[in-house]
Amino acid sequence: MSSPSASPFDRWLADDPEVARLLGEEAARQSTTLQLIASENFTSTAVLAASGSVLTNKYAEGYPGRRYYGGNQVIDEVEDLARRRACGLFGAEHANVQPHAGANANLAVYQALLDPGDTILAMRLDHGGHLTHGSPASITSSIWRFVSYGVSPPTDDPDKPGEIIDFDQVADLARRERPKLIVAGSTAYARIIDPMPFREIADSVGARFLFDAAHPAGLIAGGVHPSPVGVADVVTLTTHKTLRGPRGGAILTGADLARVIDGAVFPGLQGGPLEHVVAAKAVAFAEASTPRFRRYAEQVVANAGALGDALAAEGFRLVSGGTENHQVLLDLRTFDDELTGKVAQEVLDLAGITCNRNTIPDDPRPPFVTSGLRLGSAAETTAGMGTDQMRLVGGLIGRALRRRGDAGALDRVRSEVGELCGAFPPYPELAGT
Ligand SMILES: *Cc1c(COP(=O)(O)O)cnc(C)c1O
Repeated sequence: MSSPSASPFDRWLADDPEVARLLGEEAARQSTTLQLIASENFTSTAVLAASGSVLTNKYAEGYPGRRYYGGNQVIDEVEDLARRRACGLFGAEHANVQPHAGANANLAVYQALLDPGDTILAMRLDHGGHLTHGSPASITSSIWRFVSYGVSPPTDDPDKPGEIIDFDQVADLARRERPKLIVAGSTAYARIIDPMPFREIADSVGARFLFDAAHPAGLIAGGVHPSPVGVADVVTLTTHKTLRGPRGGAILTGADLARVIDGAVFPGLQGGPLEHVVAAKAVAFAEASTPRFRRYAEQVVANAGALGDALAAEGFRLVSGGTENHQVLLDLRTFDDELTGKVAQEVLDLAGITCNRNTIPDDPRPPFVTSGLRLGSAAETTAGMGTDQMRLVGGLIGRALRRRGDAGALDRVRSEVGELCGAFPPYPELAGT
């Protein structure tokens, strides 16, 4: 196999062999090992090209038509195009495409809608909430007061497996704590998040409702998950997870909140926008509005299902009893009570399988160790893998973890992984350029 290229512009790095070598090594890693981190994906070469463009040179503080620097005629068109495409894709009245990341998008929404000290009701971190949903380590928790809901306890009934969002608890907490804002959305949760019950609870206590769609944005765009747009007051998303665009964030709102949200992003939180990334977001929004992307989103969910089934057959317990999105959250204890998430992640790394340890609801082990593993199907589905390959991957994960003390066995898994990845290169168009 010819060595993979790291970008459409590789040859321009010839004068910096140190960086060129590192980019080449990372391109090789991405194409010879399995990428199962649920928050990652492979962008198109068009997205790579836009984010590697001369737009990085331009200062454009402000918004289209209202900039603080000259020379923004073209940039205005770029950002307007990205905003129009985001609104068209999601059916939103207003889009802010400037947030540098999902975390910034959430911070901007809090800043726009709340005063310091106000109460936010969001998902517990150890049940799948994000750092920006009130982690003690996040600045969010020093500015606002967080109260958290979680998932229901697991059951023994396969038809009602539990570990799904406990709306009775959300409603109780909302009544007792009177939050100004309720946040839906998660970083490790394998079920559909229905925005409607959150809306009803928010209305019953006069709270605003933020749907943080960082993970399922692409599944919503692809029509396989219910859309929170028009239901929630504000929707935040990342453009790099299931949406398959460049690394960044975006915010969707109704026209009523457009000004206050825009002001919170700039000048509230950020300086000049990354217009090269905004152009790449525009590319990704257009890509995500095609029938082809709908088929992709359907395949992502089918692939996660096949991976989950294969892992259940290996003896792992699936948290919440299965998956309805791109994620599989594994409880390792039924497979091997001694095996921690930390060790499993390290063993799988040796076998060429990239994923991350994750807490499971009410995990008895600390967050740095954990009893769980989180896997995602979004990236390898982009590379072209289907349910047959996912079943194979499930078997390889089981074999690697069962024989983790046997270096020869891990080498054999690694070489089977290499063969599989060789048949599904993420960037065939860049090969040997
Ligand atoms: C990934 C994620 C974010 C933050 O995205 P970054 O781009 O990493 O800042 C926010 N919320 C949720 C639920 C996420 O999963």
